[in-house]
Amino acid sequence: MSNYIGTTGLVMNEPLIFERSSEGKRGIDVPKSDVGDVRPEEVIPTDLLRTNIEGFPEVSEVDVVRHFVRISQWNYGVDTGMYPLGSCTMKYNPKVNEDIARLPGFARTHPYQPEGLSQGALQLMYELERYLAEISGMDSVTLQPAAGAQGELCGMLMMAAYFSKTGKPRRKVIIPDTAHGTNPASVTLAGLTAVPVKTGHEGILTPDAVMAVMDEDTAGIMITNPNTLGLFERHIKEISDIVHKKGGFVYCDGANMNALLGIARLGDMGVDVVHMNLHKTFSTPHGGGGPGAGPVGVKKELEPFLPIPRIVKKNINPVTFPHPHPTPPLEGEGAKEAPLPQGEDEGEGGSSCIYKFIYDSPDSIGRLRAFYGNFGVLVRAYAYIRAMGPEGLRKAGEMAVLNANYVKEGLKSHYHLPYNQPCMHECVFSDKLQLEKGFNTLDIAKRLMDYGFHPPTVYFPLVVHDAIMIEPTESEDKAGLDGFIDAMKRIAEEEPELVRSAPHKTRVGRLDEAKAARKPVLRWRPSVKG
Ligand SMILES: *Cc1c(COP(=O)(O)O)cnc(C)c1O
Repeated sequence: MSNYIGTTGLVMNEPLIFERSSEGKRGIDVPKSDVGDVRPEEVIPTDLLRTNIEGFPEVSEVDVVRHFVRISQWNYGVDTGMYPLGSCTMKYNPKVNEDIARLPGFARTHPYQPEGLSQGALQLMYELERYLAEISGMDSVTLQPAAGAQGELCGMLMMAAYFSKTGKPRRKVIIPDTAHGTNPASVTLAGLTAVPVKTGHEGILTPDAVMAVMDEDTAGIMITNPNTLGLFERHIKEISDIVHKKGGFVYCDGANMNALLGIARLGDMGVDVVHMNLHKTFSTPHGGGGPGAGPVGVKKELEPFLPIPRIVKKNINPVTFPHPHPTPPLEGEGAKEAPLPQGEDEGEGGSSCIYKFIYDSPDSIGRLRAFYGNFGVLVRAYAYIRAMGPEGLRKAGEMAVLNANYVKEGLKSHYHLPYNQPCMHECVFSDKLQLEKGFNTLDIAKRLMDYGFHPPTVYFPLVVHDAIMIEPTESEDKAGLDGFIDAMKRIAEEEPELVRSAPHKTRVGRLDEAKAARKPVLRWRPSVKG
């Protein structure tokens, strides 16, 4: 076992910063300024002035640096090792995209800057919309939603607005039992009612099941493809036809686009609305709470309902503008785009503005958030798509699928595989065989940490009892996957007691999660030290 990462090395202990405190220590010591002091009481009323912050840590500079560096080293991230969470796409993202998002022209641009001075930013957003439309097979895209769940809400609000406009509002949305938890939540938040349908014995939705619930009070279906069992919804076209025949829309949760990138387009399968998580598939680091972006693509019929502002491009006769840097096409269509002229910015509304925000959209559901979306996330996605190109994106998709199938095949001798068929970007096992031996999914997840791996997603999706859901992503190589498979196999063969009491090599052992949830200690107080 000694050749696994995470089993050797220096793990520093680190107390709370308060416990490092010792009276009189100072962080920095610089010569006294020769500019006269303004004493706080001269500018702040004394009754508002704090004289003492109880327990405020007094520490030196090196104390502070070591404290935070050590704590940062207890973190596990995709930069440390494999992070096989299912339904999450925790893939490694190229660092060059971080550099690009930090270029001053992007990072320091201000949302109140006039359009004439933001043409590059607008061009990037405009082109990203077109690229995402091309990848998903949609007609139009909004970049505004700040996350996948907000994209879902956006989609549901647009569908509801569409039916309100026809004068025949619809109340229901069909949701399969494999859906991500955010799906029924978004439906409810949009004022609609979720109607559950069960997946068939193959782990996918059957047209019959949809036919049985689809009616003229149903706004549509919310489907995830590939679904959260990692299986492709083979009947999607037939299901779309059933929903369309009754006047409904097909919403696809495209949070994890990895499996389809450059290989197939949801729009060609009958999908009318889709959200994509840029923080899963398109190069924004994922986890730690954001920021993210959940752009939504729609077919023509729903376009008038997209949030405002929309970005438009003025129609410019290509003859009147030379082509200093023609818009690079992702494939085909983009080749027709007119270029941005150089050095002609004139400020707000200037005649040289090629890209503009428009607010005049009477059927729009309105704004979803301040300004225009999480711009830094959009820059990373743009850079990623441009660097990968159509072939690179397809390769990423193919590798993601290959890797998941490699893990599935590698582990099915040791773990129960409830749906034994080719998977897409993730595969789902259960602990059925291990339960007979005396340990379960949670024990396996905890034990994996001793081998230096982040545990996979556990107990989701709910349709598999005690699920272990693994998405290796395209960024792991064969050696990495072999190491993971080997660790999982060894765990399956270990003594139950050893697995049940894991983890053994982490800084803290198994935590009492119920107590942590019920009696959280959220604040350190000097009086309750210890
Ligand atoms: C992650 C995910 C979501 C939610 O996306 P957020 O950005 O976390 O709101 C929705 N559906 C699926 C399938 C997901 O994997």
